[in-house]
Amino acid sequence: MTQQQAQASYDAQDLWQKDKNHFIHPFTDFSLFHEKGCDLITNSDGIYVEDVHGNRFIDGIAGLWCVNVGHGRAEIGQAMAEQATRMAYFSTFNNLSNAPATELAAKLAELAPAHLNHVFYSCGGSTANDATIRLVHYYFNRLGKPSKKRILSRTNAYHGTTYMAASLTGIASNNWQFDTLDLVTHLSEANCYRRPEGMSKAEYCDHLVDELEQTIERLGADNIAAFIAEPIMGAGGVLVAPQGYHSRVQAICRANDILFIADEVVTGFGRLGHFFASEAVFETQPDIINVAKGLSSGYAPLGATLISDALYEVLSTPQGPGGVLSTGFTYSGHPVSCAAALKNIEIIEREGICENVLEVGPYLESQLKTLASHETVGDVRGSHFMMAIENVANKTTKELLPVDARVGDRVAAEAQKRGLIIRPVGHLNIISPPLIWTRQVVDEVVAILNDAFAATTRSLK
Ligand code: PLP
Repeated sequence: MTQQQAQASYDAQDLWQKDKNHFIHPFTDFSLFHEKGCDLITNSDGIYVEDVHGNRFIDGIAGLWCVNVGHGRAEIGQAMAEQATRMAYFSTFNNLSNAPATELAAKLAELAPAHLNHVFYSCGGSTANDATIRLVHYYFNRLGKPSKKRILSRTNAYHGTTYMAASLTGIASNNWQFDTLDLVTHLSEANCYRRPEGMSKAEYCDHLVDELEQTIERLGADNIAAFIAEPIMGAGGVLVAPQGYHSRVQAICRANDILFIADEVVTGFGRLGHFFASEAVFETQPDIINVAKGLSSGYAPLGATLISDALYEVLSTPQGPGGVLSTGFTYSGHPVSCAAALKNIEIIEREGICENVLEVGPYLESQLKTLASHETVGDVRGSHFMMAIENVANKTTKELLPVDARVGDRVAAEAQKRGLIIRPVGHLNIISPPLIWTRQVVDEVVAILNDAFAATTRSLK
């Protein structure tokens, strides 16, 4: 904590009143909000955050899967301040550009799989996915295939909350009492833990691939534009698909002229030990990769759609006199966000942050797996710095605890009491730390979680 930060004090009561009266929080359970309000996080440094009362916590969720290089990086702040004072904002529409957006596009093309060399900027993950679907529809319209509109997504996928992104999202509770667009067909999630009884993982993979083939047959390939998936499903429960699933899906998509889109908003920028997981981990060559979060480590809002040379050729073909590619955002290629991303990428490369994930990640996995000895822990899964724990009532039947037991909330609260913030999502707890955790931090975290799960088990009796 810098001296300046330590000196900045807030009036907790005043802030809480204002928050309660005026701030509509995203993804908020109003029964909890009315009962206990919010924790005001006021300071952060490295792997730690601090609340308004001065309590310090290990950040087990990297803000929201995004602060990949850790908190309090003065050099990112400085790069942003320099850009903000030099030229905070100007349009990137109508053949205008700025230096950080241009440099970042070139850097992304260098880091991404070889065929992805073109970048369309947005403001975050939802807008990246939303813009992508517009571009995909535009692409097929321009190819004279206007019937190719439907998008294949998956149950429990999370792709954001703009109207299109929410429609791609397959988490039923996320869209409860909301409407969605009838443009998306959801296939089954790839959930190895809850795969049909008696099916091997290889058979399960065949089963999922069969479902895809049957769906294409039913809908007609002429009506399907794209398939979108997170390489590892994140908010839907950190679900790792069976071996070979993604590459088999991509091959089927390719054979049917269906674009394959990887949503790497969480898996990108080091969380699985690589800048992009699609090719390095899952052996796929997506037509499009979407990134956000770790792209700027959350220091500024930013999203990007990385587009293949083949698609770009069609998108960039002039429409004729007066025709423009009429999509984009005021803040597409925002100079301050792009300056933050450039510095963030420099830090990831300079400090070998991907290498740290490759070294510490397997240790984190193995240590978290020891928590399976607790009565409520049904499954510990994930990869590297993207992990989840599924709580159950019965480990053999995998039956869940009643919703009102709020088991995920209980575990998270017990962990927080002991100095660690993890994320509850229904009956799950998600651990997605800054990518600078060391083995020593992992040991400290697992000790806290052991106590938190023991306390949760006691509280449920
Ligand atoms: N895609 C994935 C895989 C995500 O996990 C998220 C957010 O968690 C999004 C898209 C949406 O990103 P944003 O909240 O920046 O709009």
